[in-house]
Amino acid sequence: MSVIQTSDLTKIYDNRYIALNALNLNVEKGSIFGLVGPNGAGKSTTFRLLLGLQKPTAGSISLFNEPMTPERADIRRRLGYLPTNPNFPKHMTPITYLEFVGGVLGLDARRAKIQLVRLLDSVDLSAIASQPIKGFSTGMNTRLGIAAALMGDPELIILDEPTSGLDPAGRKQTIELIRELAGRNRTVIIATHILADVERACSDVGILSHGRMIYSGPMAEMRRLARQGNIHLEIEGNIGSFEQQIHTLDTPGTVTYEKIGSEFKITLLGTETLSEYMHRILGLIDKTGVDLHFIRSGEDEIEEAFLRRLEDDRTRGALRAASWLNNQGLENNDIDVQIKVDSNNASLSDNT
Ligand code: ADP
Repeated sequence: MSVIQTSDLTKIYDNRYIALNALNLNVEKGSIFGLVGPNGAGKSTTFRLLLGLQKPTAGSISLFNEPMTPERADIRRRLGYLPTNPNFPKHMTPITYLEFVGGVLGLDARRAKIQLVRLLDSVDLSAIASQPIKGFSTGMNTRLGIAAALMGDPELIILDEPTSGLDPAGRKQTIELIRELAGRNRTVIIATHILADVERACSDVGILSHGRMIYSGPMAEMRRLARQGNIHLEIEGNIGSFEQQIHTLDTPGTVTYEKIGSEFKITLLGTETLSEYMHRILGLIDKTGVDLHFIRSGEDEIEEAFLRRLEDDRTRGALRAASWLNNQGLENNDIDVQIKVDSNNASLSDNT
């Protein structure tokens, strides 16, 4: 069953900034969907629209197979939300804050108490549960935010940068908590730019770039695509003969390589698995009689695959713009195009 479904969801701010461009998102019950993309890609905008905090410019949203609009408080009660860098009343403590959240959600006091004790334990805040929030670090605030998002035992949990500010142990624990939620048939959608977290936590992934979904599918498929990436090797002997036959590793046009001295970086973009490509390369090494010094597949495979997707999208974007300009009979320099570029736009870096 589909928990989130959007159809051509579009958001344009101030009639000029296209934050989301015809987004078609489908998230199935029990899955952990990772929405990834550089800053400014449209992740938070997607969340604000899903929550009914903003109205779309065009397109529609359906949650639990019902139309979601800002008026649907009944649907909002079935959601838990962690905003980026959550802020809490500084004089409160985790206990008083979660009691307050329980009150807002209309939970009975006894049930709220049981729930908050369990949650404070799972986000590892029990030891400081009675201390004022005032002195809390970013990581502690994030953990309290996760506990608050889960107070009403929501069916759909929307987490914006849930591992922000956490140390490696905190990140690991948060990811385990997220996985456990999905195991209990809850559905989770997380926005993040930390690729290692997506890889560890998510069953499905969507890559957003400039408000458009440029890839969406199972994590396993993304991993498979990534693994087709690069194979790096160093050989000695009849290097020329090996080089001449690299193109035979797969169908024409799917094999490219870079040569640095006796090292080769071979990129295979066909449909075979990495182990099949490894097998073929070892066969070619054998056939040409060269000696192998080392062979390995790319280490940051997933990161490379994401970046490759973003790079492809950027190239296609430039081509689209050029063809549009040609169709208008205009030259590039005839119009003053204002493009809003975020300073972090170019990278998907791990900022922890
Ligand atoms: P992300 O969460 O991926 O960093 P956002 O959804 O915050 O991306 O932003 C997408 C784009 O929309 C960015 O270019 C951002 O500057 C712009 N944007 C977001 N909110 C507003 C707003 N309230 N007014 C104008 N532009 C906005």
